[in-house]
This record gives sequence, C-alpha cells and structure tokens, in this order.
Amino acid sequence: MNATGPVEAAEKQLAELDKLNPFKIAQRQLDEATARLELNPGTADALRWPMREMHLSFPVKMDDGTFKVFHGYRVQYNDARGPCKGGIRFHPDETIDTVRALAAWMTWKTAVVDIPLGGGKGGVICNPKEMSEGELERVSRSFFGRLAHFVNPVRDVPAPDVYTTPQVMAWMLDEFEKAHGHKAPGVITGKPLPLGGSKGRGDATARGGIYTVREAAKVLGIELKGKTCAVQGYGNAGYFGAKLAEEILGRKVIAVSDSRGGIINKDGLDPEAVFQHKRKTGSVINMQNTAPVTNEELLELDVTVLFPSALENVITDENAARIKGKIIAELANGPTTPEADVILYKNGNFVIPDFLCNAGGVTVSYFEQVQNAYNYYWEVEEVHEKLNTKMTSAFAGVYDMHKRHEVHMRLAAYLVAVQRVAEAMKLRGWV
Ligand code: GLU
Repeated sequence: MNATGPVEAAEKQLAELDKLNPFKIAQRQLDEATARLELNPGTADALRWPMREMHLSFPVKMDDGTFKVFHGYRVQYNDARGPCKGGIRFHPDETIDTVRALAAWMTWKTAVVDIPLGGGKGGVICNPKEMSEGELERVSRSFFGRLAHFVNPVRDVPAPDVYTTPQVMAWMLDEFEKAHGHKAPGVITGKPLPLGGSKGRGDATARGGIYTVREAAKVLGIELKGKTCAVQGYGNAGYFGAKLAEEILGRKVIAVSDSRGGIINKDGLDPEAVFQHKRKTGSVINMQNTAPVTNEELLELDVTVLFPSALENVITDENAARIKGKIIAELANGPTTPEADVILYKNGNFVIPDFLCNAGGVTVSYFEQVQNAYNYYWEVEEVHEKLNTKMTSAFAGVYDMHKRHEVHMRLAAYLVAVQRVAEAMKLRGWV
C-alpha cells in the first residue's frame, strides 16, 4: 500500500492554502520591501507582526428567540504614526489571518497617503445576507459593546468595510457613547451625515481610485475617453467606481459582477440602472439587455481599465497571464497574489496597488475625524479638492519610486510606506 499518497496530497493542499493565506502574503510582500530598504533585522521583524489583537465573542438574541454566539476580531497592527485606523468587515469567511493582513495593509495605506494614522482592522464572522435588520443591529451593537473600552478617537478608529454601512457605524457609535456617557463622534468614521459624517465619504474609496487611474493614464500616455472598463464586485467601491469612471474619466463600463455572477454589454452599461437592479433583485445578474459573464471571464476581458473591487486573491498565478487590462486599479484589498504581481509586471499590465488605489476611503475618514474634532463641517467641494491633492501626490511618490528602483508599483508603494512607518518607530525609540 502506498502510504505517502494521501499525506503528500494533504501536504500539497496545505501548501496551496498557505500560498493564499492573506497574512502570509502580507508578510511576504513586506519582507521584500524591508530587504530592499536594508532595514535592520529588529525593525523588519517588528513590522511583520500586529502590536495587539483581540478575539471577541458575544451572544446575540436571534429573531426566533434563540441565542447565537458570534466571533469577531480587532487587530491593532501598528500605531507608530498615529491612532490605529481601519474598517470592520462582516463576512462568513472572516479569519484572524484575513483581519491581520487587512490591518497590516491599513498601516501601509495611511502611510502611503501620509496621514497621521496607524493601521488596524476588525471582522465579525457572520453573513449579513442571511440576517434580518434587527439581527444586524444586535450583532453590530454587541460587537462594539465588547470593543468599547479598547477603541477611542486617539487610540483606534474603526470604519465601514465589506458588508458594513453608515447605519452600522451609527449603531456602533451609539453603543460607544452609551458606554462612556458622552459624545465622541471621532471614535468611528463613515457615519451618516446627521451623526457627524463627512460629505464625500460615501464615494471616497472609488473617487480616490479614479484620481489615481487618471494619473496613471497621464504617465502611461493613455487617452481614457471612450475606452472600456470592467468592474469585478458591485459593493460600495465597485458601484461608485463604475459611476465615477464614466463621470470623471469618460470611460465606458462594459461589464460588472458580484458574488453571484456578472453581466456584459459591449455597448456599455448604465451603472445607476445596474445599481437599481441589484437593489431590487439582490444581484447584478439577469439585467435586461446584457449577456451573462462569469467573474473569471470578466477579469480576463480586453479592457483598458480593470477594477477588482471585491475580495482577496482573485488574480493569481493561475490567471495572471490571461489578464488583458492595461491598468489594473485595485479598489479591493488584496486582490492580487505576489506570484501574479510578477507575471503582470513582466507582461506590462500597470497595477495601481490596493493600498494606494483604495486609500481615498481612509483619507476622507481622516478628514471626517478632523471635522469631528473641530465640530465644523466642510462642503463637498472642499473634501474633493483635498482628496485630489492627497491622492495625486501619493501616486506621484509611488510612481517616482517605481521608476527609480525599477520595481513594480506594489513594491514601490511598500518602499514609500514602510520607510515612513520605520522612521516613526525609530523616532519613538521602539527599534
Ligand atoms: N475599510 C476602508 C479601507 O479598507 C476604509 C477604512 C477607514 O476609513 O478607516 O480602506
């Protein structure tokens, strides 16, 4: 009997899983940067780990009267440059390693756009699609109740992310303020406007990404008007990405998708009509005057700009060589694996890496905090102008590094960001 067969198969499977573990990926990306920067081993090692992480569990009363225990995490990755900052995801596949990776990427994100914040992230293992509004509210409140004494405006500031909304932020804010007995709008961002949200926060992630695409097209000499784009994922980032791609850059959106599948129309889709269709039916699929397309096919369409706007690990060594988008604008966090990065770079696909491309969200979150602290609120034009300035200069800094060091844009973004975080750690005397 061949006893090694199944063992080898299991080992191979584990190695594959390991290759796609987001935190391992985040560490590998970082290691490449710290080696290039020739940071001393202590600094490099300190940057590889979250400074603090919390595992939280909490019972919630469900609509049928039973109690269900939910599990969640908050990772405070690094606060050398300022309070930890980053969203809270509600997702059935959440793990401590996805949250660690996302918290690390937040640390590089706030550094690359040079705002005085660190990085953190939270996640609750749950499926909002299967929960009632009341259950969603109770999960939001209970989770934040557990966190209420470990976050505050100068320590750690959460925000929305996948499947969390301004309404969820409102419940969380209320829970915090009840626990502390005073108002503290700066404890969470992405709030609804009447509770101290910022104008321009709703579409900020996509808008910031669109500004970086505009800058990329300039340096690459690509005329974007009338060209095509495809959007994978149709949540906040994907929907606004599609809408603003048309409005700001004059590009035609020919295909979009969500977790249930995609749609295509070579003559162009109307992003707003697609949004309304999704609102009514729960998905973009089966929309009138469109043909179906799978998520995999969408990623390989021959378009000028591809927006991966959903989850991690959708561009891997398996499909990278077939990706045709000239500009890959990563509105999602972690859509491309390190192996795929090498292939895309070699093939001349220009990647605007996630923590640069989607930094508009946290940048306007920072503006929201500033407004909360002043208790004085800006007009939307002011928000857009300040966001434009931040994104344009962050893109220029990364592009300059990419040219000078002849490395792909993700590594260039790491070099800029990691240097800044390492400097802050050194100034504090941590390393
Ligand atoms: N969740 C968003 C991100 O991944 C926004 C975070 C924030 O505003 O703090 O960048």
